[in-house]
Amino acid sequence: MSEPSMNRRQLLAGATGIAMLRPGDAAADRIRPSDRRWPNAAAWEALNRAVEGHLIKVAMPSLTPASLRNPYFIGDQPGMTQTSGWVDAWMSTPSVYAVAAQSTAHVVAAVDFAREHDVRVVIKGGGHSYQGTSNAPDSLLIWTRGMDHIELLDGFVPKGCDGVAPQPAVSVGAGAIWMHVYDAVTTKAGRYVQGGGCTTVGVAGLVQSGGFGSFSKNFGTAAASLLEAEIVTADGAVRVVNACSDPELFWGIKGGGGGSLGVITRLTLKMHDLPDWFGGAFITIAAASDAAFRRLVGGFVDLYRNRLFNPYWGESVEFRHGNVLAISMVSHSLDRQQAEDVWRPFLDWVGESPRELALVREPIIGSIPARQWWDAAYRRQYRPASVKFDDRPGAPADNMWWTGDGDQVGWFLHGYESAWLPASLLGQQENLADALFAASRHWSVGLHFNKGLAGGLVAAATRTRETATNPAVLDAFALAIIGAFGPSAYTGTPDLAAARRDARAVGAAMAELRKVAPDAGAYVSESSFFQSDWQRAYWGTNYPRLRAVKARYDPDGLFFVHHGVGSEEWSDDGFTRVNGR
Ligand SMILES: Cc1cc2nc3c(=O)[nH]c(=O)nc-3n(C[C@H](O)[C@H](O)[C@H](O)COP(=O)(O)OP(=O)(O)OC[C@H]3O[C@@H](n4cnc5c(N)ncnc54)[C@H](O)[C@@H]3O)c2cc1C
Repeated sequence: MSEPSMNRRQLLAGATGIAMLRPGDAAADRIRPSDRRWPNAAAWEALNRAVEGHLIKVAMPSLTPASLRNPYFIGDQPGMTQTSGWVDAWMSTPSVYAVAAQSTAHVVAAVDFAREHDVRVVIKGGGHSYQGTSNAPDSLLIWTRGMDHIELLDGFVPKGCDGVAPQPAVSVGAGAIWMHVYDAVTTKAGRYVQGGGCTTVGVAGLVQSGGFGSFSKNFGTAAASLLEAEIVTADGAVRVVNACSDPELFWGIKGGGGGSLGVITRLTLKMHDLPDWFGGAFITIAAASDAAFRRLVGGFVDLYRNRLFNPYWGESVEFRHGNVLAISMVSHSLDRQQAEDVWRPFLDWVGESPRELALVREPIIGSIPARQWWDAAYRRQYRPASVKFDDRPGAPADNMWWTGDGDQVGWFLHGYESAWLPASLLGQQENLADALFAASRHWSVGLHFNKGLAGGLVAAATRTRETATNPAVLDAFALAIIGAFGPSAYTGTPDLAAARRDARAVGAAMAELRKVAPDAGAYVSESSFFQSDWQRAYWGTNYPRLRAVKARYDPDGLFFVHHGVGSEEWSDDGFTRVNGR
């Protein structure tokens, strides 16, 4: 190990007693290819041998319009991320080298190399980070995509937890993505696992985010169902962590954010019973005037409070800037008739004002057997409009994604903010409706009901309370998300003036919501790159405990991400910015 870096990384004990790094350390000061201490060819060759030939030089692939629309193509590229950048924040930039890890031993070799040579290391699974935390210029990438083994276990007992009753679980490699896990667990085995809504998101990234799926009001966050993980820590040790072994580290990876505490190589998640039905309601209503739209917002808030604020309904609605309400909600355990009964009074109410409110298209309300929800063959035959498929020759048949997620593939972010809205607001319906209406004057506002656990099952909340996510999630009826984006920056040059204008409008819209929810927290993986007071926003009262985990398992700050645990001690995140800013 090089001595100068040892000195720069020397730990200081802070007033809190938690070990801290000196400002200016870590990412920005890690050695770069231009540095004379950059590892020489022989050192890289030694790493290549240690990882059995899986060290690769990273370059951008050649791109076609079709490949840029395909999240599976992007996920298969070591040099790309699903978001192409964020104005004034970061631009997707390939690493210099990547270890395309196939085993835990490869990850250990990469971690040891990064530590010993003081090179910047980043970790990438599904590549969906909005904040750009899975890419960095001049870095060594640990790319887990190839570690995608999935195994169903009938009677799993976490290591060292003798006496704990065996339970059904699924064990997945860190590179697995949710679509393939759903295929194995639900479509093929008729069970349920709590993952994310977007099918191409990585399992390890989502679990560390906390992470929500459409049915989280019923099952909790993805992190809440984690039973055990294997993780390589900064010292190169391979640890099997669970409630009985290294319990603080186990707790920390359940929502503490990816890329800060070590490299996860395997995760074991609880399998739940699958309900009979999953379904949805897709309704779009246009209002003829601002006044009519304000009335519509109020009508929906009333409906939500009285009919939808329960474990059965998740996903989202959007109050659009152009006076349109777009409802895309999903249901759980309700058959078609039960779902229609919920919506009938609201649709009748809309129908009473034909000059003010109009259905943009025929509403779709229905249910399908839950086992078919992620069944690619079923979707291809009976619900082709709801999904897109990876059409590359030889692509697995279950490589599908929701049509509604298509806009996000390769997008360039202009602005993005989130806020957990407390359920107490449902007791002030007029104030809430006023705030939503006022926000929608600036930009379209989404409410994601499955990303706030109030109104859900008690068991879901109880499990989630045992994670590092901001406890505000338990009291929130929804996560408000306001986002703006433009076309991919991989092939075009972003319109920076327009992007900054959009970002201001997003900020103004969120400011309206903060008038009624001034202390709202934000979801770590779907929030602003420029989030102020991010430690409190993401983790609330859990943050000091997370800092203690960081100090114990990564005292020298080998793992570093923007707004990650402990990163406030570093002055520069080392990103490439638009215009080199
Ligand atoms: C199109 C899209 C849809 C989304 N939908 C949802 C959704 O439905 N629900 C939801 O809750 N969130 C959603 N998100 C947010 C997403 O869950 C998070 O960004 C998540 O962290 C992505 O994980 P990943 O592995 O795909 O991404 P990556 O960018 O690869 O990883 C995310 C972070 O985790 C770290 N990481 C990845 N693998 C490991 C590992 N093995 N060990 C340690 N650290 C690791 C990375 O370094 C990075 O910091 C969505 C994001 C996008 C872009």
